Amino acid sequence: MGQTIVIVGGGAAGFFCAANIVKTGGTKIILLERSQKCLSKVRISGGGRCNVTHNSDSIAAMSKKYPRGEKFVKKTFHRFFVPDTIAWFAERGLKLKVEADNRMFPVTDDSQSVIDVLTRAVARNGVDIRLGQHVYDIVPKEQGFTLHIKGHQDIHADQLVIASGGFPKLEMFDWLQHLGHEIAAPVPSLFTFNIPRNPITDLMGLSVPEGTVKISGTKLQESGPVLITHWGLSGPGILKTSAYGALQLAAMNYNFQVQVNWLANYNEESFRQHLMTYKQEHPHQKLSNITGLPIPQRLWNLLLLFSQIEETQKWVDLPAKQLNKLAKNVTALEMKVSGKTTFKEEFVTAGGIELSGVDSQTMQSKYHEGLYFAGELLNIDGVTGGFNFQNAWTTAWIAAKTISAKI
Ligand SMILES: Cc1cc2nc3c(=O)[nH]c(=O)nc-3n(C[C@H](O)[C@H](O)[C@H](O)COP(=O)(O)OP(=O)(O)OC[C@H]3O[C@@H](n4cnc5c(N)ncnc54)[C@H](O)[C@@H]3O)c2cc1C
Repeated sequence: MGQTIVIVGGGAAGFFCAANIVKTGGTKIILLERSQKCLSKVRISGGGRCNVTHNSDSIAAMSKKYPRGEKFVKKTFHRFFVPDTIAWFAERGLKLKVEADNRMFPVTDDSQSVIDVLTRAVARNGVDIRLGQHVYDIVPKEQGFTLHIKGHQDIHADQLVIASGGFPKLEMFDWLQHLGHEIAAPVPSLFTFNIPRNPITDLMGLSVPEGTVKISGTKLQESGPVLITHWGLSGPGILKTSAYGALQLAAMNYNFQVQVNWLANYNEESFRQHLMTYKQEHPHQKLSNITGLPIPQRLWNLLLLFSQIEETQKWVDLPAKQLNKLAKNVTALEMKVSGKTTFKEEFVTAGGIELSGVDSQTMQSKYHEGLYFAGELLNIDGVTGGFNFQNAWTTAWIAAKTISAKI
């Protein structure tokens, strides 16, 4: 009799694993999904376009984009990397395109086409998809595992893949407790900063192309576009800071001082020099009329206001004290953050199954033969840009190959 392979979770990782297992006669693949719909996150991902992966040919550079799991993905990417993802989808009729920031999307700009490819691949592999099957306990047996499912009969798995995604609370991992794996307590990653009652929020919609974000009292510092929203700050520079600082910012209960440099190419001193030169060269120009800086006019005007400088003031009349203040506000504007807001386009949980208990070459548990993990359930998360799906594809593919070799 063939083996029964059970996959828990009908998300990106569960489907990719189910599609890539090479079956022999008699093998059964059952995929259990607790909700009534599979691939829900794929559908809403990337603003409905699904940022499938990130264009990169360097495993070392790509791995650095994972605040948790960097060393682990460095190993897994040697088995299945970005070019493999691109080829996998292309072989099944879906081309991916690269955008200016290296995010990769389906050429259709529609996540439904990713869903269609995955659904077809799983159907072709004869996977038995069972919806409304909430696995609430897993008991390891001498041979395989018994899965307890709410309102349904227990089922037996010879080989078991857990691809249930991340959970926001530690107690939500309780159903995995019999497996004996350590769990890193989950905290949110990829969120935006709330800056209540700061006049900066009146400038919602404005952005700078390259800012630097620092968190006072920590070593956290990231660069990238910074966007002003009606609740505070967002954009890649902020999201990256939230990802690399996920644990520290949670420990601060999301109350901290952020320092934004609106011109990442300058520091306070070099910008002060720039202002002094500008003053010499344009003595009779108004301060509101500075040219050649990638700062939107309304933001510049607000930074003048924060520095107690009238927009109509001429450069020649600008006292050194005010000039210094302006240099500080442009390159290190301090704002008080009180709380966070979930980034709607893409968010993940940091935390999950500790990587020390999982073999990166096989995705098999180090404690139980025949048990595998894939996707966001693992304590791996990337910054925004397609990194989280790449981890799902890679870990699911490795688990599928290991299982295929065994059956
Ligand atoms: C709004 C949003 C947009 C995103 N956009 C992007 C993007 O563009 N690019 C990117 O790289 N990443 C993106 N991400 C992150 C990415 O979606 C996830 O990292 C990825 O979906 C993880 O895949 P997964 O299969 O591990 O988990 P999931 O997609 O979460 O799937 C897990 C599945 O398991 C099921 N399940 C859980 N527990 C059980 C149980 N006990 N029994 C049975 N079934 C169970 C769940 O119902 C779910 O369907 C986005 C996330 C969000 C929330």
